[in-house]
Amino acid sequence: MEVQQLLSKYMLEISKVSDEKSLYIALSGILRRITDYQTLNVISQSSILYSEPVNDIIDEALFMEYLPWVEERLYPTFLPKDDGYVGLIPIFKGKKLLSTIVLTTSDEPTAEVIDYLQLLSYLSGLTLENLRLIDFVDKTREYFETILNLSNDGIIVFYQGEIEFSNVKGSEIIEDYPIILQEIEEKIGDNETFFEVELPNTFLSISTKEIELQGEPRILVDVRNITSEKEVEKLREVDKIKTNFIANVSHELKTPLTAIKAYTETIMNVPMTQEEIREFSETIYNQSLKLEGILNDLLDFSQLESHTLKILKEPTDLCEVVNRSILTVNHLAVHYDVKIEFDCNNSIEINCDKKRIEQIMVNLLTNAIKFSDKNKKQKIVRIEMENDDKTVKIVVEDNGVGIPADKLDRIFDKFYRADIELTYSIPGTGLGLAIVKEIVEMHNGTITVESREGEWTRFIVQLPKS
Ligand code: ADP
Repeated sequence: MEVQQLLSKYMLEISKVSDEKSLYIALSGILRRITDYQTLNVISQSSILYSEPVNDIIDEALFMEYLPWVEERLYPTFLPKDDGYVGLIPIFKGKKLLSTIVLTTSDEPTAEVIDYLQLLSYLSGLTLENLRLIDFVDKTREYFETILNLSNDGIIVFYQGEIEFSNVKGSEIIEDYPIILQEIEEKIGDNETFFEVELPNTFLSISTKEIELQGEPRILVDVRNITSEKEVEKLREVDKIKTNFIANVSHELKTPLTAIKAYTETIMNVPMTQEEIREFSETIYNQSLKLEGILNDLLDFSQLESHTLKILKEPTDLCEVVNRSILTVNHLAVHYDVKIEFDCNNSIEINCDKKRIEQIMVNLLTNAIKFSDKNKKQKIVRIEMENDDKTVKIVVEDNGVGIPADKLDRIFDKFYRADIELTYSIPGTGLGLAIVKEIVEMHNGTITVESREGEWTRFIVQLPKS
């Protein structure tokens, strides 16, 4: 076959190779056609990349000292040895040596063959460099893909509103919670770059960032599952609430007990008039009512927890119930200098548990009085009632300290006390509203709260008449 034809065949072959070894097999094939080599080695930085025949290694001593020279010239060189020649053919790209072919021949190649060898080494160099580049790109991609896929964060890239890339975690999250895509889209629209999404049993923390890749804008989204962090946070909060609750209840029990003890001791040890004894006994009685109130709350709470809280409905005049609850809290209202306003012209009949509804009213009124604002000249609690055929609406409004907006949705939680300094100086267990809500709901009613911090608070109870 003509050398020209051999070269075309070689070019066709190397255009199809996908790894270095295949390239060297093709190269040794064509070299066999234009030289009479006995052994061929491909070396790079002293290591043998390929040899033919297999494991036939040419003695380094024969050529080693000439390698730098060949590397500099980048041109095939043949050195005489005892019974033939050692040829050194550099494979290069530009000025960079990629590997060197060492072969032994019995004849020295002609100048024309040397030129062909140079051409071959140039063509092989081009292919070799490409193969190495592809290999480098593959390995780099594999490296970064492995890191991205091992990440605990979901990483998603959006391009023109569509998902262009997502790592394994990102795909898992999208599959498990497809709803977050809509959430992400909305937040991106609102220019929110950091937000948390609460899903059933799962909390996700999401951050988004505008980036430019290949000259085009994209959105990089990082999704982190923070459920366990949130759970720990919740447990800590529960722990704090528990500690506060125990401290509150102990305090609540201790205050009346101390008073009862002190007054009883005085009665026992100090000579007193009948009038004084009556006065002291009244205080003892009031303090024991307080104790009873706390114990009732605790009892109700335990029934609420065990779902054994019961209601007994009977026809009831609501005005009467409200008036009685006002009487109950009257001493507290006097103590806090709070005026209670309530006008009931017509009786309102409803079917309910009289005692429990009174308990609700006492609770709401007690709170309205306790959380009145010391700095306001006129402290007022107003009760209003409206009714139609089916429902009664009771509104208890005060002009007290109010409730911060971010605490509003928590105040019906058990043990919860809005965490303002003031709360600690006001007695309470944080159980009242949880019990109130339960009782209202047991009547198929609703209770809502509205408030403006520092200005007013309004509790609205709606009860069905029958
Ligand atoms: P407690 O009164 O024992 O603290 P509650 O369950 O009755 O417990 O109330 C929970 C919390 O709600 C209170 O600690 C207080 O922070 C807030 N709160 C309730 N009613 C009012 C009100 N009328 N004005 C201001 N804050 C209130």
